[in-house]
Amino acid sequence: MRVFVHALGCRVNQYEAQYLRERLEALPGEGEVHVVNTCTVTALADRKSRKLVAQLKRERPGALVVAVGCGADGARAGLLRAGADLVVGNRDKARLPQILQAYLQGIPLAAEGWPELQEERVRGPFPRTRALLKVQDGCTQACTFCRTWQVRGPLRSKPPQAARAEAQALAEAGHREIVVTGVNLAQYGLDLPERPALADLLEELLRVPGVRYRLTSLNPEGLTPALLRLFAAEPRLCPYLHMPLQSGDDRVLAAMGRAYTAAEYKEKALSFLSAVPKATLGADVLVGFPGEDAAAFARTVELLEALQPLNLHIFRYSPRPGTPAAALPGRVPKEEAARRSAELSVLARRWSLAVRRRFLGTALALLVEEAEGPWWVGHTENYLRVGVAKSAPLARGTIVPVEIVRVEEHFSEGVVLDRPQDRGDRPS
Ligand code: SF4
Repeated sequence: MRVFVHALGCRVNQYEAQYLRERLEALPGEGEVHVVNTCTVTALADRKSRKLVAQLKRERPGALVVAVGCGADGARAGLLRAGADLVVGNRDKARLPQILQAYLQGIPLAAEGWPELQEERVRGPFPRTRALLKVQDGCTQACTFCRTWQVRGPLRSKPPQAARAEAQALAEAGHREIVVTGVNLAQYGLDLPERPALADLLEELLRVPGVRYRLTSLNPEGLTPALLRLFAAEPRLCPYLHMPLQSGDDRVLAAMGRAYTAAEYKEKALSFLSAVPKATLGADVLVGFPGEDAAAFARTVELLEALQPLNLHIFRYSPRPGTPAAALPGRVPKEEAARRSAELSVLARRWSLAVRRRFLGTALALLVEEAEGPWWVGHTENYLRVGVAKSAPLARGTIVPVEIVRVEEHFSEGVVLDRPQDRGDRPS
């Protein structure tokens, strides 16, 4: 059977696509199957999922098209209308090989409960230079604008030893950087008997030599003193923290159901930036949330101005069916939400430039990811995207020491330093 897995959405979805690719590569039988790992985080994500299903049905008329994942739980009817032959939700996603075989043989399959996360393992290599390692699923934060927690099931964490064995396999598959991901990493371990913290998990992972680790995103409540100490002490834990903010106004944060205040967010961010060598910050902001007036938006801008994030992901609020926020009064007009988003984009470019300029003349460790025109391009440990002239004899997937020599609005240039500084091998 020829199997193609298409992933939309977040890193967790990308990891699961790899998992399904590996599990389905030995699927018996003739023919072609396209699996779409769908996303339902926004109305746009739903549209993209439907569009891809319809496109595959149109372009591959003889193939079986299967829609799985968050969209399958959150927007099932639309996927069936788009032509999906089979729609499989998150609870059953990991059992897709059995479900597909039963479907192809016309045999009904009994439903089962949510699988343990340690059963979900990949061996790699991933198609990209950076590997993904899913260690957590589910969320109980229940933010009022969010659908994800409604479709991702109960909290489930991968025990540290199981995660370490998987990281070992990914290192042996040739990956030098592993991105640790989950739906809400701040809730890692809460469901496990020993309740290991995220810091405990990372200490276990750091016992695998030859790789560095990066966290996808972490809510402020997840940045514990123990984790901050580990970031400060361990160079193989990439000093970049992507910490969703959403709003800089306490009244809006409360209406969103977030677990922190603007002051707490600021304190966590500043403690990270001051305690961790070469640290940089990333943030998510949701503009146009119901009740966000001009003063509230100004507080968001003021907070970000004080923190100067390297990366800022700006989302415009879109009401999601079945979420409490969709019923809130004080809707912000679309034009005004667009204006606020545009204002933040301009500021975000200025903040990113200022942060990158601070690293001029600094030695950083670049993961070489791809060739782009006359450049090798990749990301440093603190997540600067850097280009190195192709004249340098580099190889994709290696980590090389570079000095930042030029920073412009859309580009940072590095030169390779001729001293061996591969952060992966040196024991911590
Ligand atoms: S923390 Fe909030 S936004 Fe994130 S998955 Fe949980 S409910 Fe959704």
